[in-house]
Amino acid sequence: MPAELVAIAHPETERFSTDEVIYTSPVSGSLLELQNSDPLPAPDALKKLWRERRMSNHPLDRSGVWRYRELLSFWPKFDHVVSLSEGNTPILDAPHAAQFAGLDHIQFKHQGYNPTGSFKDNGMTCGVAQARHLGMNRVACVSTGNTSASMAAYASAGGLQPIIFIPNGNIAYGKLAQALEYGAQTLQVDANFDEILALVRTLAERLGIYLLNSINPFRIEGQKTIMVEMMDQLDWNEPDWVVLPGGNLGNTAAFGKGFREMLAAGLIKKAPRLAVIQAEGSAPFVEMYKQGATALTANPKPETLATAIRIGDPVSWPKAVQSIDDSNGVVESVTEQEISDAKATIGRCGIGCEPASAATLAGVRKLVAAGVIKPTDRVVSILTGHVLKDPDYVYKYHTEKLDDPQGNRLVSRFANKPVVVPNDPDAIAELLS
Ligand SMILES: *Cc1c(COP(=O)(O)O)cnc(C)c1O
Repeated sequence: MPAELVAIAHPETERFSTDEVIYTSPVSGSLLELQNSDPLPAPDALKKLWRERRMSNHPLDRSGVWRYRELLSFWPKFDHVVSLSEGNTPILDAPHAAQFAGLDHIQFKHQGYNPTGSFKDNGMTCGVAQARHLGMNRVACVSTGNTSASMAAYASAGGLQPIIFIPNGNIAYGKLAQALEYGAQTLQVDANFDEILALVRTLAERLGIYLLNSINPFRIEGQKTIMVEMMDQLDWNEPDWVVLPGGNLGNTAAFGKGFREMLAAGLIKKAPRLAVIQAEGSAPFVEMYKQGATALTANPKPETLATAIRIGDPVSWPKAVQSIDDSNGVVESVTEQEISDAKATIGRCGIGCEPASAATLAGVRKLVAAGVIKPTDRVVSILTGHVLKDPDYVYKYHTEKLDDPQGNRLVSRFANKPVVVPNDPDAIAELLS
């Protein structure tokens, strides 16, 4: 087989077939990544082929993930792929946000335009294809967030049964609603996230269920194409920076791998610097860099209103370290206040996003103020999720009722409050004049 699963800690000695049902190395426990040793076509031929596919109506070509399938050739054929036309997300100019951040220009690549409203779809199409390649009938994850929404959609579309395990306490209703609608069997367990993960791993083996948690290396492969699509859209002109939020750090891992492979294939000359932004109350990766530590110390009680990045023990941190090191990247944290200001600013651009995504603009603003990012630098910021994922946050912000996790009221600097008016044209005319 051309592609193998390779333990990142022991790449020479721990190599496994893509026909095996494994998530981490069964020898050392190391994270796995896919390695393909087949030679690729010449870079100009690839760029031409990928561009031509945009005019094709073939479902694989219409997909913003599978269009780049030369970088995803793990199977002899692509007949297990389930596509909902994921990817194809736009790059948007946002002058008002640039001004907010102190930049001449900024561009947003908006992954919220995906079929279920987040970048999880880019990875899930690949993870579900592998589940079908392995002949699995059921897939599972532990999540109440975008992962469960996405897994539910792709599994159901592909004729698999999605099963979602929910820890007690933290339920994000907007995202859970999608999972229910897309047909996920939803099991609420009276235990915390880590306990449920252990439970699910036991059950997965016993019942033949394929796990699609963020540790799954096939999801990372799909997500790396976000950067390939971005470069294609930028006519292969590298930006100076790519800025993204960090939760489990799967995307950080994926983007780094994407740039390594594009460099190796001669598709780009230089990788952009990555800037990973975490919320201050949930920033174990930033802490690790601040302390100059070589291993991550988990935060047992992560807190942020940006629930998609409320992760205390990010599984992909060893891969994320490589992404940061390779790209001369930086890590930074931002406050709840900074996230809420940035989010409202992105909204005012007519774009909008969920709170975790807005951490990027808040981070850019901070890095420009610190002189790390120069005002003339070319910056692409990744908006990871759709504005309607978290309407509760939006409504509370604009009605000046948004409290941080400690219960302190945030300042709604850009509040846009609904106004109650009498049923009287004169009164309303006066108000609007
Ligand atoms: C999952 C998610 C993140 C965090 O991404 P990681 O790969 O876990 O770092 C950020 N924003 C949104 C909207 C997400 O769904």
